[in-house]
Amino acid sequence: MATISSLVDKRVVIAITDSGICDIFNAFYLTSLLVQAGAKVKLSISASIIDFLSALDTKNFDGNNLSIGYALSSKQENLCKLVGRDTDLLVIAPCNDYAMTELLENLTCRTLTTDPPILIAPVLSNENKNIIDDLVQNGVFIASQLARDYFLKQKDNAKVVRPLEILGYIRMILGRSGKLAGRKIVITAGGTREAIDPVRVITNRSSGKQGYALAQAAIDEGAQVVLISTPTALVSPVGAETLEVNSADEMLEAVLTISVGADALIMAAAVADFRARNIATNKLKKRDGVPEIKLEATPDILAAIALRPEEKQPRLIVGFAAESQDLLKNAISKLESKKANLFVANDITCPDSGLGADSNQVTLLYSDGRREPLPLMSKTDVAEIICDRLAELL
Ligand code: C5P
Repeated sequence: MATISSLVDKRVVIAITDSGICDIFNAFYLTSLLVQAGAKVKLSISASIIDFLSALDTKNFDGNNLSIGYALSSKQENLCKLVGRDTDLLVIAPCNDYAMTELLENLTCRTLTTDPPILIAPVLSNENKNIIDDLVQNGVFIASQLARDYFLKQKDNAKVVRPLEILGYIRMILGRSGKLAGRKIVITAGGTREAIDPVRVITNRSSGKQGYALAQAAIDEGAQVVLISTPTALVSPVGAETLEVNSADEMLEAVLTISVGADALIMAAAVADFRARNIATNKLKKRDGVPEIKLEATPDILAAIALRPEEKQPRLIVGFAAESQDLLKNAISKLESKKANLFVANDITCPDSGLGADSNQVTLLYSDGRREPLPLMSKTDVAEIICDRLAELL
């Protein structure tokens, strides 16, 4: 796994309270993900987990970015005292019944301005369930972007929250004071699907990877993100409000509604340019011969945005131009005609770049005439650079 820029050198304490073996393995997996991401992790575990660990070869375990200590007792110590002033986040995962009760008694005595936030992933026991129900009733059970501390709720009755999901929350919490804090960014992703009949669609090779990477990068920098996506094989980043759309028409409607008041609209989606003029009500049958499908143009979403009154437009508009010839010439003409502030030109003739690939080679074109060619890099890195430039422009 590559490092995650927003987590590099962040100091995270993970308290693993006594729980079932699977929960504990999950907590170690989370620890491993964080260390690989570049965070400096301190593990806080009980004597019984230390015994379990000593049965493993821990030679490679203690290193620059990982230390083990602060043994917890089975009746938990004051978890809030586990963290020093230099800690960025305390994660309690899994958090057992004892720890939950203990925590709730101590949360109120925290100094909110100096103590780091706490992320709590409770084990789903009957005891914890009652505590959580109480919290929900009292409005304390919060997992919103504005909350300081987080209690995570398991999905679909799973016993614990999954490590990758916890990692997503960690990114969101640690990104809160980033360059895009307080900004609303609307991002479209994926290739639209235009129906031919109830079964078939016209679509394209877009995987959605660049749009999803942008959503994650914007969350890492503290933005409020709305991701308008066609169906993809990707998992939406934790913290993004995701809306699923299919056709260009549906995407247009979502963008027009959601981009009002947004700081930026990033149109990373590959919107189909053509659709069937008539959609067959029933599945077209082979026995009826090869159908002739008349096409018509789809609405141009960026053009529709440009036509809106200024108060309804997002402050910044970013478009993408995936081109197989005359890359810069075509991209510049789209930047101008679609009245965007920034266009990302990518050459789709290069096998490692563009639709479906994990990497991208792009040139950033600004409306003031500046050009910024970037070398071939991962879509994650491209996304981070675009978010950085957006923050500057905003
Ligand atoms: O398809 P084209 O190369 O013109 O797309 C350039 C940009 O315009 C992309 O950002 C794409 O998301 C957007 N687009 C759009 N509506 C369309 C087609 C493309 O907003 N119907």
